[in-house]
Amino acid sequence: MVAINYRVDHVKKNKYSRPGDKLLKVQAGVIHYTANKYANAEDHQVYFDGDDGGAYRYAGAHIFIDKHEAVEIIPLDEVAYHANERKAGPLLPSLKASTSFYPGGNANLLTIGLEMCIEEDGTFHPDTIARTQLVCKRLQKQFPALRDTKNRFVRHYDITGKNCPAPYVASPSAWNAFLAGIDAPVIEAPKVVVPPKPKYNSKYTSKPEERLGTVVLKGTTMNYRTEPDINAPIVKQLPAYHGADPERPVHLYEVKGEWLRLGRGWISNAKGAYAVVKLYDKKEEEEMKKQVIVVNATDDFPAALRLSNRIGAGLVSLFNAKKEQYAKEAIVVGGSATGIKADKVTNLSGDSYFTTAAKVDEYISKL
Ligand SMILES: [Zn+2]
Repeated sequence: MVAINYRVDHVKKNKYSRPGDKLLKVQAGVIHYTANKYANAEDHQVYFDGDDGGAYRYAGAHIFIDKHEAVEIIPLDEVAYHANERKAGPLLPSLKASTSFYPGGNANLLTIGLEMCIEEDGTFHPDTIARTQLVCKRLQKQFPALRDTKNRFVRHYDITGKNCPAPYVASPSAWNAFLAGIDAPVIEAPKVVVPPKPKYNSKYTSKPEERLGTVVLKGTTMNYRTEPDINAPIVKQLPAYHGADPERPVHLYEVKGEWLRLGRGWISNAKGAYAVVKLYDKKEEEEMKKQVIVVNATDDFPAALRLSNRIGAGLVSLFNAKKEQYAKEAIVVGGSATGIKADKVTNLSGDSYFTTAAKVDEYISKL
């Protein structure tokens, strides 16, 4: 028995995660998993909020659910980009739709996306499962079309063939049990009041071009605050592994006295006790601008990040890379390289994300 603990915390409108286009109607609920074992529902709200909409990627979903709460980050009458990576359109013809503002025929115009957070071992916590079932029930009250559970709640996999949500692609019986649980009578636990977490200060961004250098953290759990002030609210505690590996330092964006800004939050580095800072010198800064990594789809992110960690180049979306020039050389990791603005284009795209990843690793091995 869990409480639904449903709260609404919409991200601001932005072209990447909340375009503001209206759904044509609600035809189905699409179940996803976040595949991100270090982030809960709130973390995803923070990630997709802001002008960058989550690292300038066209992605998002309406509701994120973890073992403590459910957070609606996009209004349920608006489009979210969650189930349309298949160029030929959805595998379920009933979910194929298009409009002038979103042509091509896809499922995002007719569906609500639900993202289930995972635990560190990659599984769903039982409370996450139970809470997601409660959210589905809630949606069925709101949208009568969803009441035919077995036909109206589908896996991302059913629409595009993507391995999502992986635990329910691997186990169809677990998926059927999940659906059966939506229809089972549920006695909901009373609402538990979860105190709202402090927000990141929206004036701080984490654009690649603003980096000052890198930071290796000294392995202790550290408080990540909204402002460079010991009395400022703590957004979260960085886990011990975060940035502790010298091979994978975290990016530094700003320094104020003993305070370091890593992305959108601050840590104290009093007496240099908590972090080893390495500032880019001018030459390295120039080096950085020599290359940029161009990414098209979420599936290519692991390979793109491996390359980014290795060569220190920032990431930019394929869409933006075709609009303006970001660096002398563009290294394309997924998608068509035609039309990219750069002096030199290195194309590492394969036919699938597997072959792209193989090309990236081959490229890295030759560096
Ligand atoms: Zn998915």
